[in-house]
Amino acid sequence: MTEQLKKAIRDVPDFPKKGILFKDITTLCKEPALFQRMVDMLGHRYIGKGVDLVVGIEARGFIVGAALAYKLGAGVVLVRKPGKLPHKTHKATYTLEYGKDTLEIHQDAIEKGQKVIIADDLLATGGTAGAVAKLVSDMGAKILECAFIVELEELNGKEKLKPHPVFSLIKY
Ligand code: AMP
Repeated sequence: MTEQLKKAIRDVPDFPKKGILFKDITTLCKEPALFQRMVDMLGHRYIGKGVDLVVGIEARGFIVGAALAYKLGAGVVLVRKPGKLPHKTHKATYTLEYGKDTLEIHQDAIEKGQKVIIADDLLATGGTAGAVAKLVSDMGAKILECAFIVELEELNGKEKLKPHPVFSLIKY
């Protein structure tokens, strides 16, 4: 089932910098039947699990997150780069390969006890999703799972997301 999805993902060598093999999901998302299958496969996993919110990480996580939330009849919450969200925010700063990055979420985006799925296109080292998991669990959310289209297993991002469960449709 996922073989065709995998084939539709484009490898772009040396983007955004030398040595990175970028997994480009735009070539998957533009195919109507494949995009639908991608969303359906994620959706079926969580239907009936009482998901209140899907938390999408800027920017490709918005595509995955919003489509999944719609499928589940859940709300969608945005985690964005600094300075983009208009109201009061909580911030998480995390370490990248070179330097640091920050993500923000509205302080009133999640209520204590709400059940959430964190969604992004790809899990690499887990730094990004790990920071988001900390942010939303500090707000009192119950993280049911962190969901990705692609996981780069050798980077062991799952480790940074512990104790939260991780699911990915496609693994490399
Ligand atoms: P990380 O924090 O290392 O898990 O990186 C995950 C974030 O960086 C996700 O938002 C991805 O969209 C992006 N990313 C990291 N590595 C890649 C890659 N090889 N191909 C595409 N996106 C990537």
